[in-house]
This record gives sequence, structure tokens and C-alpha cells, in this order.
Amino acid sequence: MSAAPQVSVCIPTYRGAAQIAETIESVLAQSFADFELVIVDDASPDETGQVVARYRDARLRYVRSECNAGVEQNWNRCLRFARGRYFKLLPHDDLIAPDCLARQVAVLEADRDERLALVFCARRIIDSRSRALMTRRYPRRGSGVIPARAVLRSCIRSGTNLLGEPGDAHHSLTFTWLANRAGLGLFGVHLAQRALDASVAHAKTRVQFGQPIGRFQLVQGMLAEMATLTDASRLLCYRALALLDRGVWCHRESSMAKAYATEAAVKVTNMAIQLHGSSGLAKEFPLERWARDARMLTLPDGTTQIQQLIIGRELVGLRAFA
Ligand SMILES: Cc1cc2nc3c(=O)[nH]c(=O)nc-3n(C[C@H](O)[C@H](O)[C@H](O)COP(=O)(O)OP(=O)(O)OC[C@H]3O[C@@H](n4cnc5c(N)ncnc54)[C@H](O)[C@@H]3O)c2cc1C
Repeated sequence: MSAAPQVSVCIPTYRGAAQIAETIESVLAQSFADFELVIVDDASPDETGQVVARYRDARLRYVRSECNAGVEQNWNRCLRFARGRYFKLLPHDDLIAPDCLARQVAVLEADRDERLALVFCARRIIDSRSRALMTRRYPRRGSGVIPARAVLRSCIRSGTNLLGEPGDAHHSLTFTWLANRAGLGLFGVHLAQRALDASVAHAKTRVQFGQPIGRFQLVQGMLAEMATLTDASRLLCYRALALLDRGVWCHRESSMAKAYATEAAVKVTNMAIQLHGSSGLAKEFPLERWARDARMLTLPDGTTQIQQLIIGRELVGLRAFA
């Protein structure tokens, strides 16, 4: 792959076949040359891929997702593929003037103190028949620096530039739950790992009946179970998060991660107390604190029983709860 360009122009698209050709051409016609053009297709069922394939420019890259993840995620996904110093997000139906990038880069390069967070440009928004739906111009005051506070106030007053798509709250919230569940599972993994590490160290140093307790088979049995529970929890959480990273809606895997990892953390921290004997209960050591922390994790963001009902629903296709 060539060296990183100065600008990454990213076009997130879904069903963009009718408009994307003109948008691509408006980018490739830029007077400023040091850019890459990344098109991130959210699994469009139309001809978007074929339209993009007509362009042979080496600066153009086309990335197609395996499955549709929705607008918000697809826009965010652009960040993953961008390699440039500057990032320009361009909807697939927005046409920019040939000097757009040159002017925007000039403004950012002149900003030696890095006070600017973003620059914006005029653009023409087209419909599927190439008719201009609207032209976004520069503000009446012309170019210049606008403080973030003024931009935010203007957005709130005019009700524009919402965070997320209108009507999309359920989608965003569900995605947040899915990620939270695996995240809470990882809290459990953290507690279990610390309890396991402390237990291994204790088993090597605590001497009873003339030998370290780690030599006793039943103690090794406990350590083996603690380590297996901890590793299995970690893998389940990583699997759910990896799926979410790829935009896969993974109710089953996310609930498995949360239920298994938090219950495992309860077991492992309790076994660590057992392995430490009465010192495991002493407030001077963190073990009893870890066990209380782990005990809490099975309740929020859906109790273990609710996670089981979600897994069951995903397996059987029938809901056991309202
Ligand atoms: C540390 C912590 C942080 C929290 N943070 C928040 C927060 O930020 N926002 C918020 O809104 N809440 C929060 N909660 C509340 C949490 O979501 C609830 O405690 C949890 O959903 C359980 O509800 P409940 O306590 O009313 O128990 P109940 O709903 O009364 O449940 C009691 C028991 O019955 C089981 N049960 C209930 N319904 C069913 C069913 N249909 N089928 C099978 N079993 C069932 C449960 O699994 C549980 O074992 C938090 C809780 C904790 C412990």
C-alpha cells in the first residue's frame, strides 16, 4: 500500500448507485491531488459496487460490508479505513467544487496552533436524476473561524445536525446494550483474573503440612477450574465484541458473554477466598472486595436469568418474557 495521503475522503454509502458516480467524479476532479477516496458500502443490494468498479483511479478504494449495519455504524466505519492526516466525510449524493480540498487543506495547514476541529464546505446535493435538491453555501458572514459554542448553539436552535439519525434511537440503544453486556462481562474477567493471579501466588507460598498448598491436588483442581472459567469468559466477551465491531447484531453471543462471565467471576472470586482460607475474608486483602464487586455484576444490564431468556429466544425463536 502507498504512503498515507494527506486527506482521506470517505463516502459512506447504501443504495447509492444512482448518485455516487457524480460524487466520485467531483472528488477525482479536485485540483488538490494528495488524497485517497474510500467508499464504504453498507452491503447495498443495488448496483453501487458495479458503478464504483468503473473507476480505475489508484486513489480509490472500495470496501463492502458483509451485512448491513445501519447509517450510524457505516459512517463510523469510515474512520477505520481512513489513512490520511485529514478526514473528509462526504455523503454519496453531495457534489463538491474542484477547489474544495485545496481550500480546506489550506485552512487547516495555516492553523499552526491546531485550534480548528473541523472545516466545512459548500456543496450541491443531488437526487437520483442528478437534479440539485439544494445547495449548501457558506454562511452569510463568509469564511472565518466560528467558535464551537456558537456552532452548537446554532445547531440546537435550528434543530439540525442531530446526534444519530432521527427515529433511530431504538437501533442505537439496542447496539449500546449489546456492547454493554460484553463490557460488563469483561469487568467480571478482570476481577476473576486478579483473583486467579492472587491465588496462584498464594498457592506457591503458603505452606501447610510441610509443603506449599499448591502441591495438593485439590488446590490444583481449584486453580484449573478458576483459570478455565476466566479464559472461557474472556473468549466469549471477545467474540461478542468482535462481532459488534463487524456490525453483526449478536444478541445470543452478547447475552452468553454477560451471563457466563459475570457468573464465572462470582465463582472464581469465591474460590479465591476459599483457597486463601480465613485470610481471604480479611478486609486487609482485596479478595472479599473483589467477590462483592463480582456479586453485583450479575444484576445490572439484564440479570443472568434475563440473559438466559434472550439466549433461549434466539435459539427457539419464541419469547418467554414480555
Ligand atoms: C450496580 C447496579 C447498577 C445499576 N444501574 C442501573 C442503571 O443505571 N439504570 C437502571 O435503570 N437500573 C440500574 N440497575 C438496576 C438493575 O437493572 C436491576 O436491579 C435489575 O434489572 C433487576 O431488577 P430488580 O432489582 O427490580 O429485580 P427483579 O426484577 O425483581 O428480579 C428479581 C429476580 O427475579 C428474576 N426475574 C425477574 N423477571 C424475570 C423473568 N421474567 N423471568 C425470569 N426471572 C426473572 C431476576 O432475574 C432476579 O433474579 C442497577 C443495578 C445494580 C445492582
